[in-house]
Formats: sequence, structure tokens, C-alpha cells
Amino acid sequence: MTIEREVLPTDVLIVGAGPAGLSLAYKLAQLVQADEGLEMPEVLLMEKGSHIGAHSLSGAVMDPRGLSELIPDFAEKEAPLESPVTADAMYYFGKESAIRFPFTPKAVDNHGNYIVSLNRLSAWMGELVEAAGIDIFAGLAGSELIVRDGRVAGVQTVDMGLDKEGNPRPNFEPGSIVEAKVTILCEGVHGSLTRQAFEKLPHLTADCLPQSYLTGVKEVWQVPEGRIKAGQVYHTIGWPQPSNEYGGGWIYAMSDTMVSIGYAVGLIHPTRPTIPT
Ligand SMILES: Cc1cc2nc3c(=O)[nH]c(=O)nc-3n(C[C@H](O)[C@H](O)[C@H](O)COP(=O)(O)OP(=O)(O)OC[C@H]3O[C@@H](n4cnc5c(N)ncnc54)[C@H](O)[C@@H]3O)c2cc1C
Repeated sequence: MTIEREVLPTDVLIVGAGPAGLSLAYKLAQLVQADEGLEMPEVLLMEKGSHIGAHSLSGAVMDPRGLSELIPDFAEKEAPLESPVTADAMYYFGKESAIRFPFTPKAVDNHGNYIVSLNRLSAWMGELVEAAGIDIFAGLAGSELIVRDGRVAGVQTVDMGLDKEGNPRPNFEPGSIVEAKVTILCEGVHGSLTRQAFEKLPHLTADCLPQSYLTGVKEVWQVPEGRIKAGQVYHTIGWPQPSNEYGGGWIYAMSDTMVSIGYAVGLIHPTRPTIPT
């Protein structure tokens, strides 16, 4: 069956409105504004989440260097920072013991950083990007990377109204083809279009080390007052993982009563399954 699809041309297509896609869109708008000779290209930023931030997931302790380079007046613009980091601690867990490191290893030293909700930060950045004149289409997922003559020509968006077997139901709505002069994939880890790019343009990954992954759980908990202080950051390694595996846990106090808590395990150990390529 041939499906007729709407074709939407644009200059720049950005797929994914996480921190990367939003920063890119904002920077592009800044560059155009700074150069009077430049005309604003047509930019389409698509995000599969129902709203900006809906799919943003992180711990999250944020090093503010990147944000302050991009948006130097982020404080005046009321960036939603939950708390500055006030104290760091790292623990090694045994099955029934916890030993506090006498120093904070550099990799988890968060002096000068902030605890944020990435969800809120992304929503805030989305507002700035839209105010800078860039259209964001939330609830729109790219499903097929279009490659013509060895170059990326755009993205086909997802078909709606398919049954379990992939056959069209009466409410079928075919996805559109967004044709772009430049397509930038900002899908985060394990992006489906990015994987298609690796398959269709194998030179992109030639001579590269394979990606490695962790899998984990993260929740935001409300805790009674007096348990923790806003800005406290805890990291753990050790139990329940054996010492030859990579991973660990965290607790970040977003406020005196709200914590981000999580645990992640590396998938690179030979005894663990790896994600098929
Ligand atoms: C549990 C956890 C804890 C973390 N803790 C920290 C931390 O404490 N500090 C820190 O600095 N970093 C942390 N990170 C890492 C940090 O979250 C990421 O580096 C960051 O979110 C990457 O930003 P990104 O924009 O590249 O991707 P993402 O934030 O993943 O955003 C990608 C966006 O693209 C959208 N998208 C994907 N595919 C498509 C598609 N085909 N069509 C349309 N939209 C699409 C997604 O919905 C999403 O909104 C953590 C990550 C996790 C998972």
C-alpha cells in the first residue's frame, strides 16, 4: 500500500528537546541575533514527550559552567535551581557496613554545583527557546531517518492509529516527512534515529569504541523533616555489587524534605547482558 505523506520543508530540524537540543536551538537563535546580516533560518524542534521536560530524567547534580556560558544571566532569568550543593559524602557499602571515604573523589566532588530537577530545567529552557522565535513541536516523534545519496535529508514522523501488528486502523494518520537542509539528532542515549544513522552511514562509527551503558532506577521521594538538609549529596559504591562491577547509588537533597534517590548498574561486565547492537 502506498501511503501519501505530507512533506514539511524546513532549514534546520532538531530531534529531541532535552538539554542538548534546547541548548543548540537557543545558541542558534543567539548567533543569528548577534549578526545583523543573518536571517533567522526556519528551525523545527521536535520532541516526542507530551510537553518539554516530560521525558527529562536525571539525578541531577548540575555543573553550571555550560549553562552560564550559554545563558550568563540564568539567575536573573529565574533558572529553576533547587539547591546549591552544600556537602558531599561518598560511602563504600559492605553487606552490613558503610565506610565513609575520608575525602571526596574528584569525580563526585560537587562543590559549586547545583541540584536541579532536569524536568523543570528543560521546561524553563523550552520557554526561552520559544521566546527566541523557535517553534517546538511536542508530542511529535521521529521514527525513520531519511538518507538520500549518502546524506541525511530529514525525518519521517511516527504513524498514528496502527494496530498491534502494525496494520492501519480506521483512525490511521500517516506520519509526515520533515525535509531539512540540516538535521541534528539530540535524542539522548540509545536514540532510535541515531541507531538508524549508525546503520545507514556506517562511516560514522568506524574506528569508534562501542557505546557502553548503565541501567538503573531513580525516584523522587518526600521525606520527613530532619532526615536530610537541602544541598546534601551522597554517593555510594560497593554492596550489593561485587567489587569488579561498575555502578552505585546516590541521594541528592533537593530540599529539606525532597530527595532524588537512585541506583545504577553498568552493563559492561562480561557476566551481564549487553544491549544488542
Ligand atoms: C538516572 C540518571 C541520572 C543522571 N544523573 C545526572 C547527574 O546527576 N548529573 C548530570 O550532569 N547528568 C546526569 N545524568 C545524565 C544527564 O541526564 C544526561 O547527560 C542529559 O539528560 C543528556 O541530555 P540530552 O539532551 O543529550 O538527552 P536527553 O536528556 O535524554 O533528552 C533527549 C530528548 O529527546 C527526546 N527524543 C528522543 N528520541 C526522539 C525522537 N525519535 N523523536 C523526538 N524526540 C525524541 C526525548 O524524549 C528527550 O526529551 C543522569 C542520567 C540518568 C538517566
